[in-house]
Amino acid sequence: MMPAYDYIIAGAGAAGLSLAVRLVQEPLLKEKRILIIDKARKTENDRTWCFWESGRGYFEDVVHHQWKNIHFYSPDFSSLLEIAPYTYKVIRGKDFYEHCFTILKSYPNVHIQFRSVDSIGTETNAAFVISEGEKIEAQYVFNSILFEPIQPSLGTFYLHQHFKGWEIVTEKDYFNPSVATFMDFRVSQHYGTTFMYMLPLAPNRALVEYTLFNESLLPQETYEEALTDYIHNTLQIDQFQIHTTEYGVIPMTNYKFPKKQGNIIFIGTAGGQTKASSGYTFQFVQKHSAAIVENLIRVGHPFVHTTSFQERFQLYDATLLRVLSERKVPGYSVFADLFKKNPATRVLRFLDNETSLQEEIKIMSSVPTSIFFPAAIKQMLRG
Ligand SMILES: Cc1cc2nc3c(=O)[nH]c(=O)nc-3n(C[C@H](O)[C@H](O)[C@H](O)COP(=O)(O)OP(=O)(O)OC[C@H]3O[C@@H](n4cnc5c(N)ncnc54)[C@H](O)[C@@H]3O)c2cc1C
Repeated sequence: MMPAYDYIIAGAGAAGLSLAVRLVQEPLLKEKRILIIDKARKTENDRTWCFWESGRGYFEDVVHHQWKNIHFYSPDFSSLLEIAPYTYKVIRGKDFYEHCFTILKSYPNVHIQFRSVDSIGTETNAAFVISEGEKIEAQYVFNSILFEPIQPSLGTFYLHQHFKGWEIVTEKDYFNPSVATFMDFRVSQHYGTTFMYMLPLAPNRALVEYTLFNESLLPQETYEEALTDYIHNTLQIDQFQIHTTEYGVIPMTNYKFPKKQGNIIFIGTAGGQTKASSGYTFQFVQKHSAAIVENLIRVGHPFVHTTSFQERFQLYDATLLRVLSERKVPGYSVFADLFKKNPATRVLRFLDNETSLQEEIKIMSSVPTSIFFPAAIKQMLRG
C-alpha cells in the first residue's frame, strides 16, 4: 500500500520549517504530499536567532535587524570588528514561524497538524510517526524532535550553553543600532566561560543576553543579577524596562547524533546540526535543508553523508570542548586570541566550517598550541 504521505516533518521549528519551505518551493517536489506535525502552535516569540551571512539569505524577508560591524570585548583584547562581506542578522522566532506557515498554507498538498508525536519508527522503504495512538506513514520522516535527553557516552564532552536575555527599553537614547556586541567577556568568569552579548535594535531598545558555557545551569536570579549589573555598570543605564525575556539551553557536545535510521532522517539539533563549540545552529540547518532538497532532486533520496571535510571541523569542535571542559585555558582568552590574531571574517568562516586547511593552520597557531595540540591528539586517538 502507498503510504499516506511522501514526507512527514516531525517538529515545526527552525529545522522542520526551513526544510518544508524549501521542499514546496522546489518545482520538482512541489506536488509531494507533506504532513507537518508539531505539538505547539508556534505563535510565541520563543527565541531569536542570530547568525552572520553574506548578502541576502533565504529568510531575508523576516530579518528583524542587521549590523555591519560587531564589537568584541575581553580583559585582554577589545576591538570593533569589520565583518564585510558578512552582516550579523537577527530573526525573531515568531516572524519566522508566521512567514513559513503563510507559505506552507498556500499549498493544498501540505497538511499541518498541531498534535503531539509519541514516537517514530521505520519499516521497509517507509517510516512512520505515532501520534495520539494513530500510526501515520510516509516514504520518509524528517525528525527534529529530541524524544529522550542526550546520553553522552564515556569520553564525550557535554557542556550546556545557557543564557537568559532581556529586551530592554530605555527612556533616553543609549544605543547605536548599527553596531552589535558579539561577545563581551568583561564579566565574572567564576562559573566558566561567560559573556554578554547585546543587540541594539533602536536607539532606546536592545536585547542583552547573559551566556555561559559550562556543566550546570544557574538559578534564574543569578542570570538576572548578572544582567542588571551589566546594564547598570557596563552599559551605564540607570532606568530601563524589560520588554521581553528569553531563556534557553543549547547542547554543546561531540556526542554523535544519529543522521538516519532506515527512512528516518534526523534534522536540526536532533540531527547534529548544532555546532558543538559555539551552539550556532540556524545556518547549519539552512545548509542541511538545502542539501536534503538537492539530494532528493539529484539522486532521488534525502540522505546527506558526513564528508571528511566536516569530520575535520568535528575534530576542532571536540578539541575546544575538551580544552574548555578540562578548564585548561579560560574560554575568553581563546576567543580573544582568535579575534586578535586573525581577520574577523576568517574567524567567522572558521565558525561556519567553511575555511581552507591553510586558513585553519593560521587559526590553530593563534591559540596556545602547547594546550590545543595534545588535546587534539587525545581526541584523534579516541576516534
Ligand atoms: C532560546 C534559544 C535561542 C537560540 N538562539 C540561537 C541563535 O541565536 N543562533 C543560532 O544559530 N541558534 C540558536 N539557538 C539554537 C537553535 O538554532 C535553536 O534551538 C533551533 O530552534 C533548533 O532548531 P530545531 O528545529 O532543531 O529545534 P526546534 O526549533 O526546537 O524545533 C523542534 C520542534 O519540535 C516540537 N516538538 C518537541 N517535542 C514534540 C513532540 N513530542 N511532538 C510534537 N512536536 C514536538 C517543538 O514544539 C518544536 O517546534 C537558540 C536556541 C534557543 C532555545
